[in-house]
Amino acid sequence: MNKGKVWLVGAGPGEAGLITVKGLNCIHSAEVIVHDRLVNPELIAQAPEQCEIINVGKEHDFHPIPQEEINQILVRYAQAGKQVVRLKGGDPYVFGRGGEEVEVLAQNCIQFEIIPGISSSIGGLAYAGIPVTHRDYASGFHIVTGHTYQGNEQQNWNVLAQLEGTLVILMGMSRLTEICQQLMLHGKSPSTPAAVLMYACHPKQNKVISTLETLAAKVEEKNLHAPALIVIGDVVNLSTALSFESTFPTLSELSSKLKIFNEKAGT
Ligand code: SAH
Repeated sequence: MNKGKVWLVGAGPGEAGLITVKGLNCIHSAEVIVHDRLVNPELIAQAPEQCEIINVGKEHDFHPIPQEEINQILVRYAQAGKQVVRLKGGDPYVFGRGGEEVEVLAQNCIQFEIIPGISSSIGGLAYAGIPVTHRDYASGFHIVTGHTYQGNEQQNWNVLAQLEGTLVILMGMSRLTEICQQLMLHGKSPSTPAAVLMYACHPKQNKVISTLETLAAKVEEKNLHAPALIVIGDVVNLSTALSFESTFPTLSELSSKLKIFNEKAGT
């Protein structure tokens, strides 16, 4: 029997062409794809015809498939000798629970490989005209979750409020008002530039550019919701000047070039 293997692939932040060449190649030869909700369907359409597609981001009565079940799906298919692509939004190790999945694979002696992706926490900002660092405005950046593990732990607002540079918060939309209030309460200036970027790198991307003090109200007014990034710091001010339209070739154009390249290279 063939030896099964799991490829943990970052699908990138939204636009299909933002996946890596290696990741796309992996999709082209997958026997099974196990994907999350935020993965662009154009990428899944690149799978071979006989490839089995499993959507584990589907929400049954709003309850996502438990992580334990996802782990078992990966183990089961790999043990059956399949080449499995575990396709996750952004980078698989940035808040994607990729680490937990690979731990289970390792415990079960299953071969695996990680193909990093462009995380929304960096690429999503770029598509909204926000460079995550800039020599004049931010000498570093911090990426945190707005949703602490099991909701038990408290964010250390004091530390977060004192940090220099750009603060990027993922999974924070349900607590946006509280996040802004806590940061101000712990010393961050209410006039700090702040933004919410919804569906970054998607055709339906939308953003609110504001300040820490007024962000939550403006977001409510414009009805922005998850999935979205909260960005706090001076680099947000560049958003208007550095915005651009994406003029990528389509994924199928990129993909057929890649196939021609592979044929020429004899792979
Ligand atoms: N691994 C992913 C993050 C997974 S956590 C990555 O590297 O991007 C899921 C959270 O990421 C969402 O709640 C949202 O805060 C953010 N996110 C992911 N894709 C996004 C997108 N295209 N636009 C805005 N936020 C996004």
